[in-house]
Amino acid sequence: MCGIIGYVGKENAVPYLLTGLQKLEYRGYDSAGIALQTSEDFKIIKATGRVSRLKEKLSESTAKSMLGIGHTRWATHGEVSLSNAHPHLSYKGIFTVVHNGIIENYSALRDKLKDEGYPFVSDTDTEVIAHLLERDYNGDLVSSLVNTIKKLEGSFALAILCKKAPDTLILIKKESPLIIGKGKDGFLVASDINALSPFSEETVKLNDGEIALITPNRISFYSPEGNETFHSFRKFSYLSKSAEKGLFSHFMLKEIFEQPKALKDTLQHCFNEKEKLKNELSFILRPHNKAVRIYLIGCGSAYHAALSGKYVFEKLTAIPSEAVIASEFCTADFPVNENCLCIFISQSGETADTLSALKKAKEKGAYILSVLNVSESSAALLSNSVIYTKAGPEIAVATTKAYTCQLMVLYFLAVLSAYENKLLNDGDYQYYINELNSLPEKASGIIERQEEFSKFAKVLSAQTAVHFIGRNTDYVAALEGALKMKEISYIPSDAYPSGELKHGTISLIEKNSLTIALCSNDSVFKKTANSIEEIRSRGGDVITVSSEKHTEDLSALQRKIIVPDTDDLFVSLTEAIPLQLIAFYTAKEKGCDIDKPRNLAKSVTVE
Ligand code: GLU
Repeated sequence: MCGIIGYVGKENAVPYLLTGLQKLEYRGYDSAGIALQTSEDFKIIKATGRVSRLKEKLSESTAKSMLGIGHTRWATHGEVSLSNAHPHLSYKGIFTVVHNGIIENYSALRDKLKDEGYPFVSDTDTEVIAHLLERDYNGDLVSSLVNTIKKLEGSFALAILCKKAPDTLILIKKESPLIIGKGKDGFLVASDINALSPFSEETVKLNDGEIALITPNRISFYSPEGNETFHSFRKFSYLSKSAEKGLFSHFMLKEIFEQPKALKDTLQHCFNEKEKLKNELSFILRPHNKAVRIYLIGCGSAYHAALSGKYVFEKLTAIPSEAVIASEFCTADFPVNENCLCIFISQSGETADTLSALKKAKEKGAYILSVLNVSESSAALLSNSVIYTKAGPEIAVATTKAYTCQLMVLYFLAVLSAYENKLLNDGDYQYYINELNSLPEKASGIIERQEEFSKFAKVLSAQTAVHFIGRNTDYVAALEGALKMKEISYIPSDAYPSGELKHGTISLIEKNSLTIALCSNDSVFKKTANSIEEIRSRGGDVITVSSEKHTEDLSALQRKIIVPDTDDLFVSLTEAIPLQLIAFYTAKEKGCDIDKPRNLAKSVTVE
């Protein structure tokens, strides 16, 4: 979460910092600020709200420097206010710091520092770092930093300026990511690789616990113990083009429209990687065939992808499969051992909850396969095997294309595993592959009908709550539809397996309450159709999402969305797309900030 940016070089840092902050804003947008190293002092400028507010403030200033740091905040400790905005300054003003993450022992450290006379001007956990750096400073930067780091618990990526080293940008990384890019006239640092483009084609990722000291001409790396380490810069190909909005009003809409191509590219990539995957997955596949359980683990939409994957893996491979929310995986004792395959799903590969769960599964000896969208992420480095979605950069906080591409990868993996285990014959295998191949085209057909879905926005935006129901793979779409709706339109939305309706939720159904019923899955269609009737009998309104083959069965229903027929196992994907568009147009109708919804941020790097 949050964006960190830093520049040291031979040019004015301000435009680099501002451009970087704008690119990072989707990671946190509570407040923003920069600190510049001037000849005798730091110049710190902050603003609450969006980076554009900071930009306005900066336009009134003539501040210039060739060394600076910047931050866009997603508050964890302390309200959104100017005093809590980063950068934070140490007591005597020797250090200034921007921070991504949480200092878990901040309260004890704060009490101690207060007792020693350090005054606090913010409520953040970050301010303790600034004061500690100053207290521990012994004239030797590296050994002082090592001393401070030892005292900090939690996760932190830090960009620091120090008056005693006025030409140096200081970086420290523990768990949260930091990447350094080499440009023509200096170095740029960011918490997200895409913020480094188009400045630099060569990058270095800091390892956990490492320190970097960067001057315009030199960069030195140190281990957590303070010993010098070495890195070489590597070429990185950015996908920055698709990180622009182009003619679309919103990133989310653009990303919805990019789905057919993203799905096609992802499936093609799966085929390209097939032999490698077969090799890597050989332990669940014949001849070893030893996986006794598959865990699919993620957060938010990635958890919904996990659940969809669970249905497909279990049905096709007959291996017991369980979808688990990453933060729950960390706290409960799931029976995990070396005979388990753990599939971790994360767009960024930096999701803190997912990383913690991944580390836990790894400790227990499970085989780790990750499904990620961003290469060289922390999850990628920790996994035995990685398969990438080819969604390209996703900027809107509410995921669309990255999610459906995750589904595509999981479907492909399940089909491949079943075929390799001789559970599908050639004909069945080809049937499923044909189904997967048809999904991009089906997605495209659905998206073209956006106008039809936009018409539901009026009725939805007037609701105080929306219920989503579905069974089996339809239930996954219900969960994802409800999440999209609440994320961006702020309408309380819940999702239930249709069978559960009568066990509780039905008490919420009254005249004009609205339910979105998902029922494309043929095997459970009749059951959900019964639930729809139960809702209608009580005066509730229903928008039904189903597939072509059920058109006639639904002729009595007024409000419906028909998606193309697809195998029951894959309907979570076809149904997700109209639900994305419905949520989008509802949020638009309500005037919500669709790409940057309240309180959320992309890439959740705190637990
Ligand atoms: N914990 C810090 C704060 O609340 C940093 C949060 C962030 O990563 O933006 O200010």
